Amino acid sequence: MAAPTILAHGTSDQIARHVPPILEGRVNWCQLFSEPGSGSDLAGLTTRAERDGDRYVVTGQKVWSSMAHESDWGMLLARTDFGVPKHAGISWFAIALDQPGVTIRPLREMTGASVFNEVFLDEVVCDAADLVGGAGNGWAVAQTTLFFERSGIGAGGGHAGFPVPGPKGGMLGRRAGDAARDPEPGGNLVLRYPDVADLARARGRTGDPIVRQSLARLYTWSRLGHWNAQRARAEGSNANPAVPNLAKLAQTRIVKHAATLAAEILGPAVGLAGDDAPEGGRYTDALVFSPASSIYGGTDEIQRNVVAERALGLPRDDQPGRGEPYGEVLARVRRD
Ligand SMILES: Cc1cc2nc3c(=O)[nH]c(=O)nc-3n(C[C@H](O)[C@H](O)[C@H](O)COP(=O)(O)OP(=O)(O)OC[C@H]3O[C@@H](n4cnc5c(N)ncnc54)[C@H](O)[C@@H]3O)c2cc1C
Repeated sequence: MAAPTILAHGTSDQIARHVPPILEGRVNWCQLFSEPGSGSDLAGLTTRAERDGDRYVVTGQKVWSSMAHESDWGMLLARTDFGVPKHAGISWFAIALDQPGVTIRPLREMTGASVFNEVFLDEVVCDAADLVGGAGNGWAVAQTTLFFERSGIGAGGGHAGFPVPGPKGGMLGRRAGDAARDPEPGGNLVLRYPDVADLARARGRTGDPIVRQSLARLYTWSRLGHWNAQRARAEGSNANPAVPNLAKLAQTRIVKHAATLAAEILGPAVGLAGDDAPEGGRYTDALVFSPASSIYGGTDEIQRNVVAERALGLPRDDQPGRGEPYGEVLARVRRD
């Protein structure tokens, strides 16, 4: 998500500094977009970045930041101007996480794992050379990040296995053969068609017509998701604006269907969790993680809003305070 964003909006210096380490797996990046008060209403974010000579000083809080605890850099959205309408005052920064003032606290999910985090930024310094796309242009830059996030998520229903590059994730220390066999150790939270088909074979259920029909549906949806993601990639910035949203919606359907089908095949054993549960508890983990699929990358409701407004031309969602300086909107909300 970071590399294609920087390739699209970055200067040649930013591309030279940031993209090769990503391609070589030497660093990991996380996405510092959502805030406690700004998830679906992402443009309402209030993390502040103030210019101070050749740097910015950033203060605020982010949340749900996947793998921030194993990341070296963050894709940060922060407000650089409170005196303009809310979408116009946002900027996109590459921010180094290993510095004073950054506190990363893992949040425990119902899988028992900690994939995402709270990230507190207290007068954290960001080099002005790491402002990507120009001050106040962050909303447009963020759309590129979201385009690649959503179309990537939709690729074959995958995502949310978390192979973490860089020094903190432990991947660099693995033998190449092990990494090829199991690219996402302990991170297979999302099931793919082959996982569920293997389970059906292992449990002798491939002759069951209901299981077969359900497997065929999963296969069909997965292929459609894959082709849709390929279409998004092939068309790039010329793609219909709804393509990544449809990809994201398709992946929700795939992730939930795969997890439910695996649970049906396992039967009551899916209630067992932990390493000594059937298949190391993998299918149980996938089942309890699956509700997240309609939330991360933007909720299903938001994807449908975008399709309705940008692709079908339906009337826009009500936007109170539209066009007003965002600082004044916030002051009014606090007063009221
Ligand atoms: C596993 C996981 C990983 C995540 N990783 C990251 C990450 O790495 N970085 C990051 O920045 N964020 C991340 N997120 C956060 C995610 O993007 C937000 O949770 C999501 O955008 C929803 O925001 P919210 O949680 O504030 O919910 P809210 O925005 O409060 O929404 C609550 C409910 O209201 C509905 N709703 C809100 N507004 C509307 C509307 N206008 N029309 C119709 N319905 C509406 C929503 O659909 C939802 O059902 C992650 C989330 C999860 C679950």
